[in-house]
Amino acid sequence: MTTISMLINGRSTQATGGATFERRNPLDGSVATVAPAATPADAVAAVEAAAQAFPAWSALGPGARRALLMKAAQALEAKADAFAAAIPAETGGSALWAGFNVHLAAGMLLGAAALTTQVGGEIIPSDVPGNLAMGVRQPAGVVLGMAPWNAPVILGVRAVATPLACGNTVVLKGSELCPATHGLIVEALQDAGLPPGVVNFVTNAPADAAAVVEAMIAHPAVRRVNFTGSTRVGKIIASVCARHLKPAVLELGGKAPLLVLADADLDAAVNGAAFGAFANSGQICMSTERIIVDAAIADDFVARLVAKAKGLPLGDPRKGPVVLGSVVDMNTAQRCNALIDDALAKGATLLCGGKADSTLMPATLLDHVRPDMAIYREESFGPVKPIVRVNGDEEAIACANDNEYGLSAAVFSRDTARALNVARRIESGICHVNGPTVHDEAQMPFGGVKGSGWGRFGGKAGIDAFTELRWITLQTTPRQYPF
Ligand code: NAD
Repeated sequence: MTTISMLINGRSTQATGGATFERRNPLDGSVATVAPAATPADAVAAVEAAAQAFPAWSALGPGARRALLMKAAQALEAKADAFAAAIPAETGGSALWAGFNVHLAAGMLLGAAALTTQVGGEIIPSDVPGNLAMGVRQPAGVVLGMAPWNAPVILGVRAVATPLACGNTVVLKGSELCPATHGLIVEALQDAGLPPGVVNFVTNAPADAAAVVEAMIAHPAVRRVNFTGSTRVGKIIASVCARHLKPAVLELGGKAPLLVLADADLDAAVNGAAFGAFANSGQICMSTERIIVDAAIADDFVARLVAKAKGLPLGDPRKGPVVLGSVVDMNTAQRCNALIDDALAKGATLLCGGKADSTLMPATLLDHVRPDMAIYREESFGPVKPIVRVNGDEEAIACANDNEYGLSAAVFSRDTARALNVARRIESGICHVNGPTVHDEAQMPFGGVKGSGWGRFGGKAGIDAFTELRWITLQTTPRQYPF
């Protein structure tokens, strides 16, 4: 069991009154972590610490910020073993997943380090004689980042890395499901030597989330909010932000389609589908959630995918290497079981896997899924995946777009021009031709459309999200006035 603290103004801090909450291991119910249950006043103290640290941090040259973020990448990698213990304990993720998280998250810190010198601007031609007009990007202020449990290192780092690179100070609100994992990120940033108050960390009991979050969003020093999580809570965050007029980046749920066109390289499509569907037991926002296959090659594709899925190792991630560890909680198993029951009752075929009576869920594929089945539309966020058979590219595109979400997508075809034209017509923020739906890199404009949210995190799009664009002019000759 791990007991953790919050970080406010560079000091390890418990909640006012010493209140705590527990995170239990999803498999055996043992207490994994005891974490502070912040009050709204604690959360406000974190925002105020960030506000105090803002003038000095935002005035620091880009080279100094870059050096610290590069050190943070190293400090994060140095904690790989601690993450490999915390992730299986708190969320049931595999060691493979933990290692991938740390590696990609360290890359995000390096990507952010490289962005520090890209926070620029432009000279804009003015019609006023002698007027030098500039569009200047400046740090916004305090940024509140809220990250989920499922890709805990990647998404916790993503919530703060680009904001810090741009010269903002941050408060990270950890997930109730992985407070120790998120706490390790903050420790790494501290180990790197970020000044007190630049990064602050708040944890809260689940029942206090709404009050703690609103207290921070309402604080005048908070100028940007980012939230990664479900569409349900994303809509709540959006409305709180609207009430307080705070811009937000919202990275929400997904139901990524993977289209296998009739001329696809079937082995490539099978490998992409298996990775996208079952990495981290399907608990990734970009997870392949609908496998849309042309009927002409469906039997062959399905046979190969089933063979691959049946071979994926499943087990307690604390006991050895597996691909499918434990899902995050029994709610996930129950939700997935209900999706299986509903699909089978309406005529789907179970190809492999099936219902689970614990959080160890096998790779499950359902064939002949149709629009009247819940799994056709709803995010399973588990290792249960529908296959929909279609006739031709037009039907495949229509099926891909027949959904409230629009985060990631993939198209497999040997005719790359055909695949690109299909990709252009899919309503999603991200689409990969001949690659899996699960793919993230620090420098890419990551984000969704429709129910998957708005705003982009990566690269230069991240600079736009976490800076103010100011119009500043310099009158270099006498200005003419009408009176
Ligand atoms: P969730 O929406 O349940 O997130 C819970 C978070 O919301 C916690 O931080 C909690 O404190 C907060 N919260 C809960 N109720 C609140 C309220 N009333 N007011 C304010 N805050 C409140 O999501 P989760 O289970 O942590 O994550 C899973 C979801 O996240 C999935 O839908 C997945 O697709 C999505 N996701 C999206 C991305 C992306 O980049 N688009 C990445 C990973 C996960």
